[in-house]
Amino acid sequence: MLTVKQIPVLNDNYIYLIHDSVSGETAVVDPAIAEPVQKILRERNWQLSCILNTHHHSDHVGANLTLKKQTGCQIIGSHYDKNRIPGLDRTVSEGDSVFLGRHKASVIDTPGHTLGHIVYYFSEDNFLFCGDTLFSMGCGRLFEGTAMQMHHSLNKLAALPLTTQLFCAHEYTQKNGQFAQTLEPNNTQLHQRITEVAQLRQNNIATVPTTLAQEKATNPFLRSHCPELIHTLAMHENSRVEIFTETRRRKDHF
Ligand code: ZN
Ligand code: FE
Repeated sequence: MLTVKQIPVLNDNYIYLIHDSVSGETAVVDPAIAEPVQKILRERNWQLSCILNTHHHSDHVGANLTLKKQTGCQIIGSHYDKNRIPGLDRTVSEGDSVFLGRHKASVIDTPGHTLGHIVYYFSEDNFLFCGDTLFSMGCGRLFEGTAMQMHHSLNKLAALPLTTQLFCAHEYTQKNGQFAQTLEPNNTQLHQRITEVAQLRQNNIATVPTTLAQEKATNPFLRSHCPELIHTLAMHENSRVEIFTETRRRKDHF
């Protein structure tokens, strides 16, 4: 059994510690800062085995060198980011696997937010660590990739089982929900989710992880086929990619 410990840091980042009790191995996904990670490791008497980076941004790799120096952990990240992820020991790309004890994570390339963005999919455990590619009711900004690349990346994630738990790297859900509502004002599942999210945030509770089923029902970036969304955008003659592109453009200006 894998245990996932979510650590909220900075303004709205989440760091995830993943621990396998059988092997005793522990991974950390996107350590922005070191202290809160070290604290949990101490409290639980866990030894850090590896760092799994989803992409090179500083709020995801900030503690790489500190944690490596202290624990000797191995740092794993995209081959594309070999010159821009600090302390990288092992480069991976789509089709490669990373093991935490006997638990396998498959690497999936998801260019868009950055060109080297990857996600880690523990298929047996139903966990997806999706970094800044997919957020609850949102997706990452296009800093390096094209809308077409991001659309393709999200389609790959949308093909995973509906019960997949999505461990996103940011708590952007409430703002994302407000935007989603402008596109689908009559989506009842979206309404419910927005209400639930408001309550959670009022009590300072995380809205992440979410599930793929929930995202498919509420996330406009996975809903380029949705009649109401298409109607709002008045894009009846357009392709899915064009609809996605316009959705992303509007979010940038929201
Ligand atoms: Zn980022
Ligand atoms: Fe980020």
